Amino acid sequence: MKKSNATLELSKKEMQEYGYQVVDAIVEHFDTQHEKLPVSLATREEMDDLFLEEAPEKASDPQKVLDFVLDKVVSKSTIVSHPKAFSFVPGPSNYISAMADTLATGFNIFSGGWAASPAAAELEIVTLQWLLKIFGFPAKKGGGIFTSGGSMANLTAIVTARNIKCGEDFSNAVIYLSDQAHSSNIKAINVLGFGKEQIRIIPTTQEFKFSINKLKNAIAKDRLNGLHPFCLIGTAGTTNTGTVDQLSELSVLCKQEDIWFHIDGAYGGAAILSVDGKKMLKGIEKADSLTVDPHKWFFQPYEMGCLLIRNVNHLKGTFTEKPEYLRDVEGNTSEINFYDHGIQLTRRFRALKFYMSVKTFGLSSFRKAITYNIKLAEKTEIILRKSPNWEVISPATLAVINFRFNPIGNDLSEKQLDALNQKISKGVMDSKEALLVTTILHNQVVLRICLINPRTTLDDIKETLNLCATFAE
Ligand SMILES: *Cc1c(COP(=O)(O)O)cnc(C)c1O
Repeated sequence: MKKSNATLELSKKEMQEYGYQVVDAIVEHFDTQHEKLPVSLATREEMDDLFLEEAPEKASDPQKVLDFVLDKVVSKSTIVSHPKAFSFVPGPSNYISAMADTLATGFNIFSGGWAASPAAAELEIVTLQWLLKIFGFPAKKGGGIFTSGGSMANLTAIVTARNIKCGEDFSNAVIYLSDQAHSSNIKAINVLGFGKEQIRIIPTTQEFKFSINKLKNAIAKDRLNGLHPFCLIGTAGTTNTGTVDQLSELSVLCKQEDIWFHIDGAYGGAAILSVDGKKMLKGIEKADSLTVDPHKWFFQPYEMGCLLIRNVNHLKGTFTEKPEYLRDVEGNTSEINFYDHGIQLTRRFRALKFYMSVKTFGLSSFRKAITYNIKLAEKTEIILRKSPNWEVISPATLAVINFRFNPIGNDLSEKQLDALNQKISKGVMDSKEALLVTTILHNQVVLRICLINPRTTLDDIKETLNLCATFAE
């Protein structure tokens, strides 16, 4: 196809040949990804050398473009669903949802309003109902929306909290979060135009939970200063250590103080599907709003976040605008227009992948996978504790564990230990055998692994620890 193509079409046969190759490539990836190296490192110059060009005026052979992309783009991306992708929050994904996304995109289903696609809106209602029930939110009054990710869900929550608690004037409003809260919350607060003096970052305890005493002091002092405490963000599974804040206690405090209680469960919320996780997350059902992030531990491909809300009218009351060009499509109130629940008007059909994967595998599979992940981290902690080389810095918590190389009887200074652990991480990354980077806890450089991939085995971890040790020399 060298001539220009004003209708942007391929013949049926060309589409089939092209599409089958795409599916084959994806299947091959799912089937063999564990044999590949997970890490891709490249400089800007190397990437520019490969890709930089002017937008081509002339058409190209579709096969050549596809081959180039499969060879150069896909193969040079870090494999976040690899069993040895331990860092950040991995994206284990699943094949059914990948295909569901392909369908949603292939049919380009508009998921903004009821009138454009009642089935898409209904599936969003149904899957949100599943999640409301899982998290113990009220089924009738509750509601929510799927977003691009946890960051957008947190932003949507804080806009709602501000609207409900402050109305138009938020000049005196103050928001509270801990020093372990995810950076997306601060980003959202900045986007919303709050000043620095309206944000209270409360220190955490030795175990990385809110210091409740310091929080209470801050609220009381702000009230004395004539300020208006309006929102508190608790975390259900911090990204650093998997720590869950004292959710029940915080909810009582918020009730007493008439403060909106938002819980950021983007990392750890999904753990509620396991018996141990459910215990740890007690109190999560008390939130006014809750962020969960299906593209993390609910095994969905990017992008899928979710905001659940105790009273869906708060979401509607915050986001409903009535422009004249949408007047014919409003429908009745039970027919939800999801553009009234959040920021986006045109939205992709995110609910489909959640729906199809849960229908296909069953919730019991998700429960087993998550339970396996939590236990795997606990087994890893035992291995580390029994070794003379490793020191556990933060114990296995919701499948996250932090540790460092610190052999018995060494006389290294803290600074030298930091450098040594940084060197181990760099060695591992340069080998590309595992994705393993550091974080900082209590001013120490530590290695952090996040084990939410149900296909990661204990052997994968042992091999990686052995590899680490070779870089410690
Ligand atoms: C990952 C994460 C976020 C941000 O979610 P995105 O999907 O990356 O936008 C927010 N909060 C916590 C606790 C997270 O772990």
